[in-house]
Amino acid sequence: MYLPSWLSQLYRGLSRPIRRTTQPIWGSLSRSLVLSSQRRNPEFSSFVVRTNTCGELRSSHLGQEVTLCGWIQYRRQNTFLVLRDFHGLVQVIIPQDESAASVRKILCEAPMESVVQVSGTVISRPAGQENPKMPTGEIEIKVKTAELLNACKKLPFEIKDFMKKTEALRLQYRYLDLRSFQMQYNLRLRSQMVMKMRDYLCNLHGFVDIETPTLFKRTPGGAKEFLVPSREPGKFYSLPQSPQQFKQLLMVGGLDRYFQVARCYRDEGSRPDRQPEFTQIDIEMSFVDQTGIQSLIEGLLQYSWPNDKDPVVVPFPSMTFAEALATYGTDKPDTRFGMKIIDISDVFRNTEIGFLQDALSKPHGTVKAICIPEGAKYLKRKDIESIRKFSADHFDQEILPVFLNTNRNWNSPVANFIRESKRPELIRLMETQEEDVVLLMAGEHNKACSLLGKLRLECADLLETRGVVLRDPTLFSFLWVVDFPLFLPKEENPRELESAHHPFTAPHPSDIHLLYTEPEKVRSQHYDLVLNGNEIGGGSIRIHNAELQRYILATLLKEDVKLLSHILQALDYGAPPHGGIALGLDRLICLVTGSPSIRDVIAFPKSFRGHDLMSNTPDSIPPEELKPYHIQVSWPTDSKAAKAH
Ligand code: ASP
Repeated sequence: MYLPSWLSQLYRGLSRPIRRTTQPIWGSLSRSLVLSSQRRNPEFSSFVVRTNTCGELRSSHLGQEVTLCGWIQYRRQNTFLVLRDFHGLVQVIIPQDESAASVRKILCEAPMESVVQVSGTVISRPAGQENPKMPTGEIEIKVKTAELLNACKKLPFEIKDFMKKTEALRLQYRYLDLRSFQMQYNLRLRSQMVMKMRDYLCNLHGFVDIETPTLFKRTPGGAKEFLVPSREPGKFYSLPQSPQQFKQLLMVGGLDRYFQVARCYRDEGSRPDRQPEFTQIDIEMSFVDQTGIQSLIEGLLQYSWPNDKDPVVVPFPSMTFAEALATYGTDKPDTRFGMKIIDISDVFRNTEIGFLQDALSKPHGTVKAICIPEGAKYLKRKDIESIRKFSADHFDQEILPVFLNTNRNWNSPVANFIRESKRPELIRLMETQEEDVVLLMAGEHNKACSLLGKLRLECADLLETRGVVLRDPTLFSFLWVVDFPLFLPKEENPRELESAHHPFTAPHPSDIHLLYTEPEKVRSQHYDLVLNGNEIGGGSIRIHNAELQRYILATLLKEDVKLLSHILQALDYGAPPHGGIALGLDRLICLVTGSPSIRDVIAFPKSFRGHDLMSNTPDSIPPEELKPYHIQVSWPTDSKAAKAH
C-alpha cells in the first residue's frame, strides 16, 4: 500500500520493532500484548465499499478494477474530476461517449464537495500528461459506474487549506474545517502519538490504563471547577480538574503503575491558549522517586515522537526554579536562545546615580540587565520607547536602554552616563559586542527578573519580525524545572499560604524541618517539564503520611479537611510512597505540529470565550427543566442575557 509521505511518516513509527526492556510479571498476558502490538501499515479499506483510498493508487495498480469514494475537489472542462479523501487526490476521467451519458451527468452536475462513489479501471495517463506533483500523478481512473452518495450545498468557505477563513467560521462549521489537510494531519498525528504512548506505557512498562470518574466532589484549592447539579436539593457534583485524588487512591489500592488519557475540566474563564476541557496523559507510580518519573517521561517522549521530526535527545537538562527565575525571569524558560538575565549589582555598588543607589540599598535590591544582540541595528527608536512604556505601565519600573557603541542616547542622560563610566565592566560582564543594546533595570530581585524575562521574550519577537532567527522552529528544547517552593503567599492575603501546585505535593526531604518554623522557605518535590518556553507537564512525589498531609492541609493551608477525609483515611491504611506527573496533551501536540493555537489540535474545541460555536453551547434551559435540580436562575437585571430572555 502506498501512503502519502505525511501518512507514511506517521505510520512508520508504529512498525518499529518493540524492544523488551522489562521482564513481564504475568508472562502470557504481557507476551500476547507485545505480539499484538507488532504492527504493520493499517488496512484503510477493510469492511467498506471502496477497494482503495484515493491517495494510494500508482502505476503498479494499472489494469486493476477499483471502487473509490471521495469528495469532489476539482472538475475541469467536464472532462476530468479530482476526487479527494484523507489519503490524497486522484484524477477520474469523465466518460464522453453516449453510452455513458448517465455517469457523465452525475459527475458533471454534482456540485463541488459532493461525495461520490466511482468504479472503473486504473489506466496510465497519456505520455506528457503525468503530474509529478501528485503522488497519484502517473495514473487516472477510467470510470464505468458512478453514484452520487450525497450532494453538497453551497459551502460557507472553500475547503482548500490556502483559503483564509476566520476562526469563528471554522469553529461554526468545524465538520467542514476538519476536511482540511492541516486538521487531518494534526488529528492523525495526535492519534499516532497517543497510540505509541499507550504502547510504551502498557506494553513496555506494565502500566494499567484505568478510567476514573468525571462526576466528583469539589476539591479545595487549585483551579475553579465546573459544578453539575444533582437531583438532591442543594447538592452538586464537580467535574475534576484532574484525576489527582483517584490516581493516588489507586496507588493505595495496589495498582502501582497507572495511566490514563484523562479529560480534565477547569472553569478558568477565557484565556488565549487554554480550554475549559482538555486532555492529560496522567501517570502515577508507587515506589518511585523524582529521577524515576523523569526517566519514564523522557523515554515516553522519545518513543512516541513523530518520525518526521528530529529525534528527542535524553536526558533532558534540569534547572532549579530559583535559577530559572534568576536567569530567564520565568519558571518556564525558552532555552532555545540566550539573552539571559545578568546580575550587574556589583558594577554599581558605589554608584552616584540616585535611583540605582536607592534600589541597591533596599532588601533584595539588585541591578540586572539583558543584552539584545545587534539591538542597535534592528530595534527602532519607537521599539525602545514601547519597551520603556511597557515596563512603566505593567511593572511600575523604569528601564534604561544602554547603547554601548554609538552616541545615541535616545532621551536618557543617565543611560549615557552609565555608558561612559561603566562601559568596560558592563562589556565584560554582559559579553556585549558592537551594535548590542543593554536593557538595564534596578529593583527587587523577583520583580526585576520577571520584568526582564518578559522583555527578553518581547525583544526576541521584535528581532524575529526584523528577520533575525533566534528560535529555530525545528528545534525542541526540553527542560526540567525542579525545586519549586512548596507554598506561595496568597495573592489576596500575602500573610497566608497556598500550595504552589497542589496540597498533595511532598516537601523536599532536606527542608522538612522548616515546615514547622518557616514554611514559606520549604522547597517541594515538584517538577515541571518545559518545552520551548511552554509548560507541557508537571507532577510531584506525593505525601504518603496522613499526619503530615493533615498538618499541611489544616494548619498551614487552613483548608477544611473534612472535604478530603477519604484521602487522609486512605493514607493511614498502608499507602505506599508514590509520585506521578501529567502531560498536557493538547499543548504538546500543538508544539509538535507547530500549530498557532491548541484549538487546532482538538477536533471540537471551545472558542476563546469557552463557547461551542457549532452547537451554540452553553445554552439556556427552560425553568421547568431546572425544577428537578431545585435550581432557579437569578438573572442579572441589566445584563444583555436578561434582555435576551
Ligand atoms: N494533577 C496534577 C495537575 O493536573 C499533575 C500531577 O501532579 O500529577 O497539574
